[in-house]
Amino acid sequence: MEYTYDLHLHSCLSPCGDEDMTPANLVNMAALLGLDIIALTDHNTAGNCRSAMEAGERAGVLVIPGMELCTAEEIHVICLFPTLEQAEAFSAEVYQNLPPIRNRPHIYGRQLRMDSADGILGEEPVLLVTASGISIDHVPQLVTRHGGLCYPAHIDRPSFSVLANFGVYPEHLQFPMAEISRHANPQTLRADHPELARMPFVRASDAHRLEDMMEPEDDRVMELPERTAAAVLHWLQTRKSSGNPAL
Ligand SMILES: [Zn+2]
Ligand SMILES: [Zn+2]
Repeated sequence: MEYTYDLHLHSCLSPCGDEDMTPANLVNMAALLGLDIIALTDHNTAGNCRSAMEAGERAGVLVIPGMELCTAEEIHVICLFPTLEQAEAFSAEVYQNLPPIRNRPHIYGRQLRMDSADGILGEEPVLLVTASGISIDHVPQLVTRHGGLCYPAHIDRPSFSVLANFGVYPEHLQFPMAEISRHANPQTLRADHPELARMPFVRASDAHRLEDMMEPEDDRVMELPERTAAAVLHWLQTRKSSGNPAL
């Protein structure tokens, strides 16, 4: 069957995420928009994934547990996992590699841990939008060790991206695909960067506010034998030969 998706969304645990982006709200908005599959990818944490997955079960939306990791080089990388336990184990390891800087909510925004019914469980004291101590060269190995899949986020953007950081897409990076942002033109990007000629792209909203979530489009549909996180990760991993040629 074909399923619509958006694999890069932030909740109110990201300090830059709107406080209305509760796990319940974002899952319900996904259902309203007609999205079948979403991933929750807060900055450097999977702390709200459990609640989003619970809310997703009620709303009929599959929530992939994930994270947007900020590497030591300040490059954002989307990390997705088949199970909550794997995402939480990875999250705990990333947490050990965050600098001990406290969040200042009045400057950066609150970092809210929520339950699946809009109750506040607590606030994360450590600032989550900092570079972790993990180099981009080590991310694929680390994520694979935790059973997940990872790829660089919004590579077309002028900040926190592989291209912004390196100027070109380095040959040695071992990612099976790359994310492009909502308005990126894959043809232009490939014309400017011939090294990306064979790189499969996935487009995502990177929404931090409910109103920025994207409606499903034809270029964001996946064909899966079953709607599970494992099937989604397998589809992403093997997309090279079967994906939409426009992407
Ligand atoms: Zn980002
Ligand atoms: Zn993001």
